[in-house]
Amino acid sequence: MTGMELDKLRSTDNIDVAGKRVLVRADLNVPTQGGEVTDTTRITRFLPTVQDLARRGARVIILSHFGRPKGVAVAEMTLAPVAAKMSDLMGNITVGFASDCIGDTAANAVSAMSDGDVLLLENLRYHAGEEKNDADFAKELAKLGDIYVNDAFSCSHRAHASTAAIAKILPSYAGGSMMKEVTALRTALDNPARPVVAVVGGAKVSTKIPVLKNMVAKVDKLIIGGGMANTFLHAQGINVGKSLCEPDFASTVGEILSAAAEANCKILLPVDAVVASEFKAGAVMGTFDIASIPDDGMILDVGPASLASLNDEIAECRTLLWNGPLGAFEIEPFGEGTFGLAGTAADLTVKGQLTTIAGGGDTVAALNDANAADRFTYISTAGGAFLEWLEGRELPGIVALTSY
Ligand code: AMP
Repeated sequence: MTGMELDKLRSTDNIDVAGKRVLVRADLNVPTQGGEVTDTTRITRFLPTVQDLARRGARVIILSHFGRPKGVAVAEMTLAPVAAKMSDLMGNITVGFASDCIGDTAANAVSAMSDGDVLLLENLRYHAGEEKNDADFAKELAKLGDIYVNDAFSCSHRAHASTAAIAKILPSYAGGSMMKEVTALRTALDNPARPVVAVVGGAKVSTKIPVLKNMVAKVDKLIIGGGMANTFLHAQGINVGKSLCEPDFASTVGEILSAAAEANCKILLPVDAVVASEFKAGAVMGTFDIASIPDDGMILDVGPASLASLNDEIAECRTLLWNGPLGAFEIEPFGEGTFGLAGTAADLTVKGQLTTIAGGGDTVAALNDANAADRFTYISTAGGAFLEWLEGRELPGIVALTSY
């Protein structure tokens, strides 16, 4: 992670933006239905950055992608409704919209701006150069601004023209929410208050091998839950019945366990489980000790003994990092383990005993269902970028901001 030279990340706090054309990369790839924005989380997180720059007299020009139009203009993937929603949410500032992000259309819209104005440019991915990290496309974008600000942590795992190439052309800074995200992640992994515990759950070991390998090297305790715990149990000779399991990954599990032993990382697996006859609401067979899972049963959650012991384990820690649910939380009643541990983590956070950082799509949904999300120290809404950070990988969009 040191390759990213995070100490070199510059915020816009100490620069004079008045009268400057500030190109801000945001992630406004928000869920919509019939042209209406249905979840404004990404917008509301981004608004303080816009409001701050506008208040300081910048001409704020927003860049974003939306969906996957693959280099052509697809009418349903226009950002126009997002500009309207942003205007609604800000009240005092109207967000203008330009129907192209480069060329005369964009240039004319930018020239018409006054200090403090905000303009959203049309979907970057209407142009193939965006996803190709094309230098000429980046030049076209860069012509529109004096300064570049990346406020889209969630897009920073992609080397695209608006996240990477453009930063080589203009003076580049990290926006307010990017700074917050990076600071939160550094709190958990760079120099955390110890002991540190990571909760890694979710469906499969195969999708999270690099995360697991990086975690055992960095944290003091690793709680493994969800379907992936079954693969760990199976690799240790425990019968998991007809649970989701990846027997082919037994040797990977072995590698992770020996890396953990070497790094002094305690691996915590379920000691009991809620077992169902099928992957269906209400199909509960009962709670079983992990050594006696029925052959025709399917583990869908950690059991109460596991939860009690995990609650004790996290209470001894100072920092907690969470990605992935402990069970099939979307289906009743298999969310109890996830919700219980989330509640404990949230309570410890409120008491000031634990710093809690969580992220990844399903994780955010699970913590919301547990009514715990707003008590966590920080929740990342970035999916891929959050996971790549947990894997210890360099994010090209952040490297671009720190290589100057
Ligand atoms: P992931 O995207 O890898 O974080 O996985 C999240 C998904 O894992 C959720 O949809 C859960 O329902 C699912 N999951 C968690 N625990 C289990 C389990 N024991 N068996 C099957 N699926 C599970």
